[in-house]
Amino acid sequence: MTKDGSTPPLARNIDAVIVGAGFSGMYMLHRLRAQGLSAIVFEAADDVGGTWYWNRYPGARCDVESMQYSYSFSPELQQEWHWREIYAPQPEILRYAQHVAERFDLRRDIRFATRVERARFDRERLRWEIATDRGDRVSARYCIMATGCLSAAKLPEIAGCEKFRGATYHTGHWPHEGVDFSGRSVGVIGTGSSAIQAIPVIARDAKHVTVFQRTPNYSIPAHNRPMPPEYETMWKSHYPELRARAWETRNGIVYDLNDQSALAVDADQRQRIYERRWAAGGIPFMAAFNDLIVNADANETAAEFVREKIRAIVHDPETAAKLTPTSYPIGTKRICVDTDYFATFNRPNVSLIDVREHPITAITETGVETAAGHYECDTLVFATGFDAMTGALNAITIDNGAGKSLRDKWAAGPRTYLGLMAAGFPNLFMITGPGSPSVLSNMMVSIEQHVDWIARCLATLDARGAAGIEASEHAEENWVAHVNEVAYKTLYPAANSWYMGANVPGKPRVFMPYIGGVGVYREICEKIAANGYEGFHLLPPVAAAAE
Ligand code: FAD
Ligand code: NAP
Repeated sequence: MTKDGSTPPLARNIDAVIVGAGFSGMYMLHRLRAQGLSAIVFEAADDVGGTWYWNRYPGARCDVESMQYSYSFSPELQQEWHWREIYAPQPEILRYAQHVAERFDLRRDIRFATRVERARFDRERLRWEIATDRGDRVSARYCIMATGCLSAAKLPEIAGCEKFRGATYHTGHWPHEGVDFSGRSVGVIGTGSSAIQAIPVIARDAKHVTVFQRTPNYSIPAHNRPMPPEYETMWKSHYPELRARAWETRNGIVYDLNDQSALAVDADQRQRIYERRWAAGGIPFMAAFNDLIVNADANETAAEFVREKIRAIVHDPETAAKLTPTSYPIGTKRICVDTDYFATFNRPNVSLIDVREHPITAITETGVETAAGHYECDTLVFATGFDAMTGALNAITIDNGAGKSLRDKWAAGPRTYLGLMAAGFPNLFMITGPGSPSVLSNMMVSIEQHVDWIARCLATLDARGAAGIEASEHAEENWVAHVNEVAYKTLYPAANSWYMGANVPGKPRVFMPYIGGVGVYREICEKIAANGYEGFHLLPPVAAAAE
């Protein structure tokens, strides 16, 4: 869309179609334009922002500090933008995305409210034919999926959802006008990161909140606060060095990793270290020691510390016991970061129902039926997560023009080379796809790394006169084996997490992201490119007649 709101005609033949206008798609568009390629973005929403467009639930905010959860590609942008809080709330992150769209004039090449339904590779012309739900047909050399790892919202498979007479909301599809909870009896299903942020805020206004919990979560206090000016100045005056440091880390976040085993210190010292981390707050808690995700005994010390905190915060021992995770190691489901989550259960208007013990059997006209009884509510919030990593990709029919769809290829779990491409699907790229560090990292770092790699790859193809690029089966095979091998050296597969596809009935149990670390992964990608795109085939130019 142009600035005056009009939509220029769609070119039928372009260099690249990008699907999605979150942080991935926006930066991809900017990079391709800068190297003289024509590109169009299709976005299902009616504005930019992706995650931060859709997830408008109360309390939504990032859990990676905003000085780091932001683009690094433009020194001017990172100097001029002011984050008001250490962890920005959703409206501010959305404003940031909108500012980026304005500043780099992105909207003129984005088609909003347009969903890509099909993409088919024409093997003679070596072009992707893309079809949208608005009848657009575009032919492009490259198709770049910036569809998001957490963009396919998932409702639970509970009978009777359609019968409920009150209002229902999913955290990932929150109404733009917001929801006034005052006077309402609200049922919240789920206790993942979204619920943990939303429940304390909803409880402030609602008459009553009933939380239906299947698995309790470990959560660390955020200690969010207004941005201290000296902290902002420190970041802004050292951005180049600090960003470069983030690229080398395990998860793309600069923080102090204690390179000691949790078992190498005595109990008093360990306690002091955990107390300091708890007081500082957030994800860096998991960097208290270097072996928390690989050694079960070390992990248990951190898990027990958090359990003790829950027992100390929550007054009612029975509620505290229900809120205390015991069935999986800390950090192997995404660690949550909260503001007053556990303390919220001390409020008289909040109750906790354990639906592991007494599963939900149905949604009725007036509430939630469990094996232990019926709970009346007039409003239901589904904080039930996403069909993560593969959901948005599998929702598109991606046909490789040789009788195979990506969905079929991935029937037993996603297979990629580097999380960037899938063998058999030439010129189709994924940003933060399965098999890359992606959701295990500060996503901004991983997004920028993938976009930069893809942009350089396309420039190289042009420089060499190649019509495209395809991952080899052999390289993909080896990469999938490596991703698995590294995952099974950690405790992650011990949890029924969405990283493992465990939250979607019937989804194959495969650890989807690459846990080798952002720094290690970046080096691998760089080396592969420097070695002439090892493990990829470059496609020879198409005969002029076929063009
Ligand atoms: P998205 O932001 O998901 O954007 C993908 C876009 O593609 C969407 O707008 C979607 O509408 C569009 N799309 C999908 N399919 C189609 C289609 N077929 N046709 C057209 N358009 C399509 N990460 C962090 O690192 N730190 C955090 O603190 C953090 N907090 C998060 C909080 C929440 C509530 C959630 C859900 C995720 C969070 N994440 C966080 C992960 C977050 O998803 C990424 O940080 C980042 O925003 C992803 O950007 P993206 O552009 O890759 O994907
Ligand atoms: P989630 O972590 O997958 O949590 C979904 C919750 O719903 C879980 O508690 C799950 O229980 C429960 N659930 C699902 N189906 C259910 C059913 N049929 N009956 C009862 N309970 C059911 O989803 P999310 O909270 O939306 O978070 C997804 C990811 O987005 C996070 O892990 C994180 O990466 C990102 N995120 C980040 C932030 C942030 O702090 N910045 C905030 C929100 C989201 P089980 O655990 O038993 O499956």
